[in-house]
Amino acid sequence: MNKFLISLVLFTSLFRITQAQKVSDYTIDVQFFPQDAQMWGYSVSDQSFMRGNAKIEFSEFDTDTLTFFLHGELKIDSIISDNNAIKFSSTKIFYGIDYSNIGLKTIIDFPDTIKKNALTIYYSGFMNPSRARSLSDYMHIDKKEGVFLRGYYYSIWFPVFQNPGEDDYEVNFKQVKVKLPKSFNAVIAGELLSETVEDDIYSAIWKPGIIKTSNIQCTAKRYEIISRDNIFVYFSDDRQSGEKIISFTQKLKKLYYSTFRNVQNDSPLYILEMPEYGNISSHNVIGISSDLYKGFDTDLFSQLTIAHELVHPYVSIPVTKENSFSALLVEGFPSYFHLYSLNKISNDVKTFNFKEYMKNVENSYITKKRTGKDRRGNNLPSEKPILKITFDEIGQYKDSFILPDRVRLFLYHLLCEMGEENYDQFLKELFLFDTMNYDKFKSLIVKYLPHYGNDLNVWLNTNEYPESLHIK
Ligand SMILES: [Zn+2]
Repeated sequence: MNKFLISLVLFTSLFRITQAQKVSDYTIDVQFFPQDAQMWGYSVSDQSFMRGNAKIEFSEFDTDTLTFFLHGELKIDSIISDNNAIKFSSTKIFYGIDYSNIGLKTIIDFPDTIKKNALTIYYSGFMNPSRARSLSDYMHIDKKEGVFLRGYYYSIWFPVFQNPGEDDYEVNFKQVKVKLPKSFNAVIAGELLSETVEDDIYSAIWKPGIIKTSNIQCTAKRYEIISRDNIFVYFSDDRQSGEKIISFTQKLKKLYYSTFRNVQNDSPLYILEMPEYGNISSHNVIGISSDLYKGFDTDLFSQLTIAHELVHPYVSIPVTKENSFSALLVEGFPSYFHLYSLNKISNDVKTFNFKEYMKNVENSYITKKRTGKDRRGNNLPSEKPILKITFDEIGQYKDSFILPDRVRLFLYHLLCEMGEENYDQFLKELFLFDTMNYDKFKSLIVKYLPHYGNDLNVWLNTNEYPESLHIK
């Protein structure tokens, strides 16, 4: 996600959380494989053991009880608020939001004993692999292999105050401190503030900032690291593939800079070699499973993931939440312009055929319009014109309907009508905009395509997809 827009618009979305208790801040401190591993006073193997505490601050309470969840093999050691122990009760439940399908549900019956709207939860236990939910049993912690955890929806390694099924939302993660035996390196999300080794213990402090609870992933391994230009690649032993990934990413950054908005993008990007099934994209962390990492040259999926994550700041135009263009700009533009750019840099590579790719987008769009369902048979959000998708609905439409198909087809149609040279000129002018409205956008387009006014209206204000706008 692009920092520029976060500060402008996402910040306000913190206040739309419709929850009984509103979590505002997290400060997390965890240790994996501590030498003095013990539970209930008995020493245990430290092989897949962790211990942590999370300070949670609330903006308000308006309930009689307070409930939170953790991975099912963890247990609560104590809950403290303003130096006082808080009473609680825990039970194991079926919890489909954790990879093991088992969760630890903890209830605090008298939240009024919580002082200063803050409490610290101390917890410990194991995170073994499980195939209960899917084949992707890579999520677990193991002293030999490493730490492979995600956040809400996957592996709940810190207390989550969301009932299963409740939507993910953004919270301020002030700090996440991770301790491991030395020679490990850990990646969370956001900014890495410090890394130190003392008494054979490695410790890293990350500042994720305002971020969704599902994006607080935690990966640690005995990694090697290479970096250039704020791009970091964490890998096991294949340095050459890491170098290729860095060159690819640098090439893209240069192209983005010259094609779109001239922003200096200094925010770090972390690319990690992961176990099988570990293809992830969490904020500024991209995981690439080991086989794809080694075949990066020909793996379109990993290239597209990196290209998409990088493109956000270069194709942003500042708008408020209320602006009817907000969805189009925040996730519509970035869902297309990385494709356009990948096509430009991969002329010599046969892995990416832009037109064929767009033809597939068109076919799937037409099918989705007809059936109202996605490829897996899930219901899609209701069809509506591009400019009718509100800021709050971005999450629903992103990666599912309208934003990843109609918007792409629209921007591709402009390219086909203008021709690449004029299109690039048009983009240069477009990304000088300091804000966006219909008239402004229209005047720029008709400067290049004088008769496009009606088509523009069809694309943005209707659901129609007439033959005349199809890919030729
Ligand atoms: Zn995106």
